[in-house]
Order: sequence, then structure tokens, then C-alpha cells
Amino acid sequence: MKALQELARKNIWQISPDETSLDNPGKDDARIFLDANEIPYNKPHNRYPDPWQTKLKATLSQVKGVAPENIFLGNGSDEVIDMVYRVFCEPRRDNVVAIAPTYGTYKARADVNDVEYRAVPLSEGFRLDAQKTLAARDANTKVIWLCSPNDPTGNSLQQTEIEKIIMGFDGIVVIDEAYSDFSPAKLFRSEIGKHPNIIALNTMSKAWGRADIRLGMAFANEQIVKLLNKVKLPYNINTLTQRHALDALEHRQDVEKWVRMLLQERSQLMKAFEYLPICERVYPSDSNFFLAKMTDARSIYKYLTEKGIAVRNESDVELCENCLRVTVGTKSENSELLGALRQF
Ligand code: PMP
Repeated sequence: MKALQELARKNIWQISPDETSLDNPGKDDARIFLDANEIPYNKPHNRYPDPWQTKLKATLSQVKGVAPENIFLGNGSDEVIDMVYRVFCEPRRDNVVAIAPTYGTYKARADVNDVEYRAVPLSEGFRLDAQKTLAARDANTKVIWLCSPNDPTGNSLQQTEIEKIIMGFDGIVVIDEAYSDFSPAKLFRSEIGKHPNIIALNTMSKAWGRADIRLGMAFANEQIVKLLNKVKLPYNINTLTQRHALDALEHRQDVEKWVRMLLQERSQLMKAFEYLPICERVYPSDSNFFLAKMTDARSIYKYLTEKGIAVRNESDVELCENCLRVTVGTKSENSELLGALRQF
């Protein structure tokens, strides 16, 4: 791995952590708070959130098995994705490499940040080819984006190929594990001690059932976390989110139950899709959704929309012609979907 100083943008590297002015040492033991221009009424909403999310990170640390100093929190993992560009990629000079198809925000934020995005198609069966992916890099490649389980294909990328990329690349490898709670695959967040160039992402938006609170997590080497901290807006995680997330972590047996139910539903729904005459192929999934190749995805998508059922038409996505991405719902939602498809 290159030195972080070489990987980070020069202006970001040079920012002193004090410049963020989030800390006031005089506040630690204070009883009366006259330092932040808040008004003293309307408690508790009058106070700014904890900018370091200390309590939340301490609890997350236990649940996720990662030390608090290796955790960075974002307003959804989408915010972290954008911040990776702002920390590492010099606009109009640096580039990133990603697999295709994959989660669209990696490219969307590359475009916003004016960073070249190099997409390397996955191989047959949406498999990762480390050699082919690494071949797309050059001296200005700062980041390789991997997503496992991958969206929209649903499958986990092969661990050995991911490892080849981690070992063979001297920049940052982001492994987006947004859907990992649905998968038995090994978690790369547990490898951050071994590989200082990994950033593993996770979110409260999927298995944790809390997309509305906007809480994304990045697990990484402490030095990378420090760089992300330099760039973040001071109060990017509001108090309501921090509180709600703590409550979610206390009720994590709900998550285990939801995952069990969804995996069972997924298996039945996928089997039912295989029997539909309008479905040509169902791709294996390690997620709470699956990709299905249909006879005519565009018309089926339109038909479902008219019936008030929203699925995702992936037909315009590379390697996904005629594919729908179907999120697993409740038993009754799934059977309504199947009923509609049987009448198409
Ligand atoms: N990563 C992947 C692979 C996703 O599919 C999504 C959301 N669809 C996200 C990240 C964004 O998650 P968040 O809600 O935490 O921003």
C-alpha cells in the first residue's frame, strides 16, 4: 500500500484536526454551557449533537466487533461514498475502478466530484475477476469499489478474488457490505487490522430496517478514519439518529428474526419465479433481493407499476438486459406480486 499521505488529496492531508473546531476542552467538566451559541430553552433539542457519536460508537463497537477508533459514521453510507472521493481523489486527475454492474452511487458521486470512473464488467455468473479488475488501474487510481453481496446482482463476490485485489492494489479498496447481514460470507470489516487499505461499509438501512434514520458505517484503519473526520460536516449525525440507532442496537434480536423470515421468503419467491413462464432465469442471491431475467422486463415492469407494485427495471444496466430486481417483501406482498405476474 502507498503511504496515506500519497493517497490522500494534498489539501485534505494538510488540514489540521483542530481546524474543524469541534472540540472545546473546557466543556468536558462544565455544568453550564455558554460556549456554542445555543439558547438555554427547549431542552433537549436546544443542544448540538455529539460530533464524535461517542456513545453510539461504543455500542456499535461491541455489536460489530470493531474498535470505536476504527469506526466512522455517515448520513447513510451514501455520504461515506461521497467522502471517499473528497478525501482521496483529485478531480480531473485521479480515477477509480469499479465492477459493473454495481451500485449506481459509486459512479454518480464520481461524476459529481469530477473523477474518472473505470467500470470493469463482471465475468459470467457475475463473478469477480481480480486480474481483469486490477488491469484497469494505473498510477492515478486511488480507489477500487467492490460491493459484496453486490447490488443489483445479489451475489457475494468470491472472497479469494477480493483478497487478490486487496493484496495486489496499492490504493484504497472499499468493500460495501450493505447486504452482508443476509449473507453467510466472511466479513471484511474483521480484516481491517490485517489490511490497512480496506474500508468496509455497512448500513442501518437494510437488515436493520432503518433506512429513514440515515446511518451508514465505515470500518477502517484509524488513520483513514481520521482523514474522514477532517472532511465531515461537524454534526453530520443528528441526535435523533444517534438515539434511534442506540435503541436499534438494543433490539438486535428483531434484526435476526427479520433476516430469518426474509431468507425463507426469498427462497420461496425465487422458486416461484423459476416456474413463471415469463421468467427465464433467476440469479443466485445472498441479499434481501434477487435479479430475475424475464422475457420482456420493460413491459412486465410497466404492467406491475400500473397495478401499484414497484420493482426495479434493470434493463438499461450493463449485463442486466431484461432483468428485474425484486426486493423480498412480506408474505402477502410477495404473493400479490406472484398473483399479478401469473396473470400477465
Ligand atoms: N450500498 C449499497 C450497495 C446499496 O444498495 C445502498 C442503498 N440502496 C447503499 C449503499 C446506501 O445505503 P444508505 O441508505 O446507508 O445510504
